[in-house]
Amino acid sequence: AALPQLVLPRKKRQVCQAVLDHFDAQYGKELGSLWSNARSVLMNPGCWQYGVMLNRFADLPDLRQTLLELGYSSLLPCSAVGTGSLQCLVHEGPVRLSTQAHNAGCLKDYFLMNAASLLPVLALGVRDGDKVLDLCSAPGGKAVAVLQSASPGLLHCNELDNRRFIWLQKTLESFVPPTQADRLKVTNLDGRVIGHSQKGQYDKVLVDAPCSNDRSWLYAPNTQQGAVWLKEREGRLPQLQMELLSSALTAVRPGGTVVYSTCTLSHAENHAVVEAILNSCPGVEPRSLEEDIAMPLSEHFTFASPITSTGLLVVPDHGRTWGPMFVAQLKRTH
Ligand code: SAM
Repeated sequence: AALPQLVLPRKKRQVCQAVLDHFDAQYGKELGSLWSNARSVLMNPGCWQYGVMLNRFADLPDLRQTLLELGYSSLLPCSAVGTGSLQCLVHEGPVRLSTQAHNAGCLKDYFLMNAASLLPVLALGVRDGDKVLDLCSAPGGKAVAVLQSASPGLLHCNELDNRRFIWLQKTLESFVPPTQADRLKVTNLDGRVIGHSQKGQYDKVLVDAPCSNDRSWLYAPNTQQGAVWLKEREGRLPQLQMELLSSALTAVRPGGTVVYSTCTLSHAENHAVVEAILNSCPGVEPRSLEEDIAMPLSEHFTFASPITSTGLLVVPDHGRTWGPMFVAQLKRTH
C-alpha cells in the first residue's frame, strides 16, 4: 500500500445567511465570548484540522513514523481513560491527508475525523469483553474507534436510515478484519425500540444522536433548506434525542454506562436533553467528565465552562478547531 499524500485545505464556501443569523442570536447568548472564535472557525473550512485515527488491524508499515515526520503528534496521553490501543494523530495546522477509497476486501489504514469525535468513545470506557450498543451508528466512526480502544465481547451497531446503514456496513468492512466479525452485530432498526426489546442487555450504550449538525448546517444549499432544518431544531430533534436516550437507559444493565453525544453547540439538544431525562428517569446518575477527559486533554480542546455533571461541550477555536461536540456520561444505578 502507498503512504498517504497530503491534500490542499478545504476551499471557502457560501454560508447560509439565515442559519448564520440564527446561530449569532442563539450562540452569542449561550456561549458569550467563545462564540466569536467558534464562528470564525466554522465559517472558514480552510482552517479546519483533521485527526488521523490509525487502524490497528491494518499493516501499513511506518505510517505512524511518517505522520510524526510530517509534524503530527499524538492526541491521547496515556493517562486519559479508556484509550487502550486507540491511536489518533493530530497536526497544529489545517493539514489534510488524502482519503482512502473503499475497496472491498481491503482494510483501510486510517480514518480521518474531527478529533473531538473520540471524546464520547473515551467517555464510554469500553473494556475487553463488554457488551456494547452503538444506537445511532452510521457512518461508523465511533464504532471503529471503540474497536481500536478495546476488544468488546459484542459491538451492536444500529442505524435507522437505509442509505446510511449501507455506508455503516462499508465502514465496518473497511476497518474490521473478518476475524473480528463474530464480535459485531449490525441492525437497521429504530433505536427507540431497542431499549424495550433488549432491556438491561448491555454494559455500555452510546447514543451519538441525530442533531442539528452546526458544521454542515451552516452550509445549507439554500435559504429554504436552512429554514426547514432550523424548524427541526425547535421541536422534532430534542424530542427524538430524549426518546433515544431513554431507550439507551433501558437497554443498559444496572451499573452500566450510557454516553450521550451530539455535534451541535445548541443547549436545547445538549444539557437540556440530559436534564429532562434526569428529571424523568429514576435510577440514573450523571458523572462529570472534567477529571478523566477535560483535564488530561485541555491542551488540545477548548471546553465551554463550567463543565457540569450534565456534560462537557467542545467549542471550535483558533488552532484547535475540533468540535462542536457535546458529551454526557450517565450511570444506571438500578
Ligand atoms: N455515530 C456515528 C459516527 O460516529 O459515525 C454518527 C451518528 S449521526 C450523528 C446520527 C445517526 O442517527 C444518523 O446516521 C441518523 O440517520 C441516525 N438516526 C436518526 N434517527 C434514528 C433512530 N430513530 N434510530 C437509530 N438511528 C437514527
